Amino acid sequence: MPVYNIKDKKILVLGGALSGLSAALKAYEAGAHVTVNDLKEITLPDNLKDKVNIVCGSHPQELLDSQDIIILSPGVPPLDVVKNAQKKGVEVIGEVEFTLRFTDAKIAAITGTNGKSTTVSLLGDILNCMAPNVFTGGNLGTPFSQTIGTDLAKADALVSLELSSFQLETITSLKADVVALLNLQEDHLDRYATFDEYVEAKLRIFKGLSDHGVAVVNADDDLVMKYARESGVKLTTFSVEGRPADFYRQGEKLVFGPYDFHLPVNIINLPGRHNQANVLAAVGCALHMGAKSSEIMKAVSEFRGLEHRMQFSGELSGVKFYNDSKATNIGSVAGSLGGFEGRYALILGGRHKGTPYTSLKDVLLPNCRLIVAIGESADLIENDLGACIPLKRSKTMAQAIKIAFEAVKSGENVILSPACSSYDMFKNYVERGNTFMDCVKDLINQNRIQ
Ligand code: ADP
Repeated sequence: MPVYNIKDKKILVLGGALSGLSAALKAYEAGAHVTVNDLKEITLPDNLKDKVNIVCGSHPQELLDSQDIIILSPGVPPLDVVKNAQKKGVEVIGEVEFTLRFTDAKIAAITGTNGKSTTVSLLGDILNCMAPNVFTGGNLGTPFSQTIGTDLAKADALVSLELSSFQLETITSLKADVVALLNLQEDHLDRYATFDEYVEAKLRIFKGLSDHGVAVVNADDDLVMKYARESGVKLTTFSVEGRPADFYRQGEKLVFGPYDFHLPVNIINLPGRHNQANVLAAVGCALHMGAKSSEIMKAVSEFRGLEHRMQFSGELSGVKFYNDSKATNIGSVAGSLGGFEGRYALILGGRHKGTPYTSLKDVLLPNCRLIVAIGESADLIENDLGACIPLKRSKTMAQAIKIAFEAVKSGENVILSPACSSYDMFKNYVERGNTFMDCVKDLINQNRIQ
């Protein structure tokens, strides 16, 4: 086991949601004196009661200054109180960095603007065919810190780890066997001052390779390739657009040249070219981690994709409905709809993230019959796209679905792919997607009854 001794250290966990509470418990079990601090009023779960202190409602500077280590939860924005404490010598890390200090597992770490969760989940399924102790998660699902002190942190465990730019900002102990950078598109300009700053955070993934490690990178993304080459790490490349690469699409096959292995495209159950790119990346990482062809074939053919990513949500009068609520930036909508076959009405909008919508024009023009703009960004969307694509406005999801449905014919589609975050109207993208699916169900039922 790597020796990370935090016995009797004073640790403050900032943010009392799932990953913060998980880190707090593990820090307590490792002998630290732990405080959980959140702006919101939170109640500690039973397994933490009497073990950790809790401070809610504010972030007192004296409290932060008196710690040895602050563990930041991923959702916590940059705070002056944290910067001040850091200047006074308090170490500030994230939940992933904290966990890395306790693990000996073999790690594949994946980042990029879009496709991370899909790629990490498929890779996790392949790893599950290879070994008994596999962890899949990080930015998605189960907090990574749950592995601390378990078999999932031992040297024979395999990890498929999703890393966001926010998590990468505080990571220094990653020694991955393989990393992947899927793409670099504009996102989170509400949190980063510039695109360059966001890219800088993403590029930290290359620093997380072990000495013998390999980076799997997207040859179709010029920016990824530029920075990947500059990083000086060992690269393997993938392409679905016919560029020269180690892993590529050729006719109806995905070819993994260096491994003398190929996959028929028709065993992939996910729609769109962007998902073929995700499969190339996931399988590429798995091959580097020693996966056999039978293990890959089994996992790929059984993988059905994740909820809220172009998820089929119902059919009425020959019109199909798709929930792509997880498309929270321009690049993901371009990924989902760029290769979409068939005409559609699109529900777009939510909380604006700083990137103009004009670049969606070329993606939407061929097949989009109508945009239904919702949420805080409706004005901006109308300004950016209203002159070239028919556009209507709606205040509610139910009404937006109805307007969209009335704009398409049998054989066409209604798609929620918002290009925005959900926080103006919903708790998160899951609640937005579930609301869409519930409203679709209601619409279908109403039409049955009539
Ligand atoms: P992430 O975890 O990076 O947000 P997901 O796999 O959850 O990625 O997918 C999020 C959204 O991005 C979905 O709407 C999906 O359709 C779209 N998407 C998935 N893979 C890609 C890709 N490789 N390029 C562009 N868009 C993608």
